[in-house]
Amino acid sequence: MESLIPELAGLARETALLYPRSGEPGVRDSSIGGPLLWPAGEPWPLCAEPGHWKPLRTPTEVVGPEPVAMVPVVQLYARDVPELPFPMGTDMLQVVWCTLIHDDHGDAVLPKLYWRSEQTVAAGAVLSCQPEPYEYEEEFMPRPCTVTPTRTVEYPNADLPGDLTLKLSRRFEEIEAETGFSYYETATTLQSKVGGYPSWVQEPQWPDCRCGRRMEHLLSITATEPVDGRWFPRDEQEPETPDSSRCTTADHAVVDTIGHGMDMGDLGGIYLFVCPECPDMPYAHRYDC
Ligand SMILES: [Zn+2]
Ligand SMILES: [Zn+2]
Repeated sequence: MESLIPELAGLARETALLYPRSGEPGVRDSSIGGPLLWPAGEPWPLCAEPGHWKPLRTPTEVVGPEPVAMVPVVQLYARDVPELPFPMGTDMLQVVWCTLIHDDHGDAVLPKLYWRSEQTVAAGAVLSCQPEPYEYEEEFMPRPCTVTPTRTVEYPNADLPGDLTLKLSRRFEEIEAETGFSYYETATTLQSKVGGYPSWVQEPQWPDCRCGRRMEHLLSITATEPVDGRWFPRDEQEPETPDSSRCTTADHAVVDTIGHGMDMGDLGGIYLFVCPECPDMPYAHRYDC
């Protein structure tokens, strides 16, 4: 990419694409929407945010005042995704969120992050029956999925600086006409992933940490996952026929297993950010659709 477009020098970022597929992950597996390795003695996270609501709920859209159980969204072990910025002494990340809509927190879910040591949790009693919310919003409720972290290098999509976008758009078109490869389809990814660039579907909205630094992208959970094209796994493609060598589509048996099933508004995403410079690793989230 950089030999074709030298202006991209320095913009490459490593990312681990997660490829969620519906399945039955266990508490010792990395997953999206799977069960968490949770200490039995620790209270399950509840959301008591006043006014959180569920669209079209009757007789009232507002849920509460009884707190609502959060749901498991992400669990990642260092053995699967070592590139996460694990704080000292931890080797697993858990993300839960309240699936309801929170007007004061980006009009979407309210996530919570936990960094833990697998060994420490597993040495004690582990929660066997995880509480379920008495009310939830389907578009942010994931089905259990296995993940297959897959490394690649990507370049910015929506995060391409404005002057570069202007400068390079003609060149992108020329390269596509010449080679058949679109910059955005081959050099950028918009799917669930760790690191790399956020999978924005709208304009970037990076959060700043209280220390003044811009936070770093931790991971993206997106409604869409590739079902064809460059980023679709080869072993899930339909067997090739002589005239389909460049046409890669999903095998019918695979299609229904792709993704965690969350619509996230109009096929948007939730993006998590952290500040690894601050000792307690503050985090923030953004939502677009
Ligand atoms: Zn809530
Ligand atoms: Zn900070």
